[in-house]
Amino acid sequence: MEHFEQESKPRLISIAEHGLLGSSFYWSRYADYSLTKEELLETGMMDDQVYVAPEIVPALTAVNAELQKRNWQLYLREGYRSPELYKLLYQKRVEKFGQAMTDKLMNIDDMPHASGHAVDVGIWDSHQEQEIRLRKPDDGPESLIYGFYQDANDLEGQRCQELQEYLVDLMQSHGFELGKKNEFFHFNYRSDNEDI
Ligand SMILES: [Zn+2]
Repeated sequence: MEHFEQESKPRLISIAEHGLLGSSFYWSRYADYSLTKEELLETGMMDDQVYVAPEIVPALTAVNAELQKRNWQLYLREGYRSPELYKLLYQKRVEKFGQAMTDKLMNIDDMPHASGHAVDVGIWDSHQEQEIRLRKPDDGPESLIYGFYQDANDLEGQRCQELQEYLVDLMQSHGFELGKKNEFFHFNYRSDNEDI
């Protein structure tokens, strides 16, 4: 933690303490992004837990309760991300995907996850005990952008579009909105947005 600028860090809590499901995306998949665990630790990451600002927990809990009516749960892949991790990810992604694609998907200017009010989410199928697929795994990074499947002709693509619309509507009705990059899974808590 000595590498970390404490004064810029928002108050954070682990979602697991509030009965919400999730695990840190980069903690489990760092090798896919040419990251090492040491590098992650240097950016202030501590473990595989997802941390968020406590103010957004009631809204996340309400979304989760709504999903549970379908035997689903909210699955959080990322909450707080330190500015140091943002910078590191940006650099690694430019190396892997190039500048244009990185800038298309990553909001390095605003760093919304550094506020603790932004989340990357998916839908967990409690019965199947796995995440529900909201995009086709073989589609490229463009498929991370909301609307990619809006003209899909195939059933799987149409299902992805339906589920994404459902998720976006559900999050929006609980105070969240899509981010500037329009990724279907990234949401900013609205009351925070005047500051950005
Ligand atoms: Zn995000």
